[in-house]
Amino acid sequence: MFVGCLALNASFEPLTMVPMRRALRLVIDGKAEIVEADHGKVVRSERMTLPHPAVIRLTRFIHVPRKFRRQVTNTFLFARDHYQCQYCGRHQSALKPRESLTRDHLIPLSRGGLNQWNNVVTACNHCNTRKGNRMPNEIDMHPLHQPTEPHFVHLSWAVRRLTPPQAKYIELFYGAETLAEIRSIEGPRALL
Ligand SMILES: [Zn+2]
Repeated sequence: MFVGCLALNASFEPLTMVPMRRALRLVIDGKAEIVEADHGKVVRSERMTLPHPAVIRLTRFIHVPRKFRRQVTNTFLFARDHYQCQYCGRHQSALKPRESLTRDHLIPLSRGGLNQWNNVVTACNHCNTRKGNRMPNEIDMHPLHQPTEPHFVHLSWAVRRLTPPQAKYIELFYGAETLAEIRSIEGPRALL
């Protein structure tokens, strides 16, 4: 099983998950410090023995460009929309073979719509084809939820599992409410 490490900015803002090897490299190079370790596990390199990092913090603050945070990816888009077609309401698990979730633009790209969070929704390929390049009003297809830009970290957690020490840092920075929301998206599996 893939075990990632939560990386925090110098400000303690949770940034992302990094693979364990990358996390260790950052620590060994002095670019990050370990703030939480998995007890009882160690990693040995030629010169040192390190605790197994669960949460690391970058020693220097990095600016994360808004552009990067705002990028629409299907992984995050589908998670935002709870893996549910926003037109027919079917969940991914209810799709037939050869059907799949796709990205639909409310205002079609061909008509000046932008590839931004507030203009994209999850749609099954059937509904996406039916809507074609028409405006929602023209074909009377309206999404179940008006799309909005999701919280970046919120979404990155929607597709991963939190370990308790990692969850603590999300709670510290974003509050218990955000953590509860994230868990409701992840499902009961996350409530270890
Ligand atoms: Zn559909």
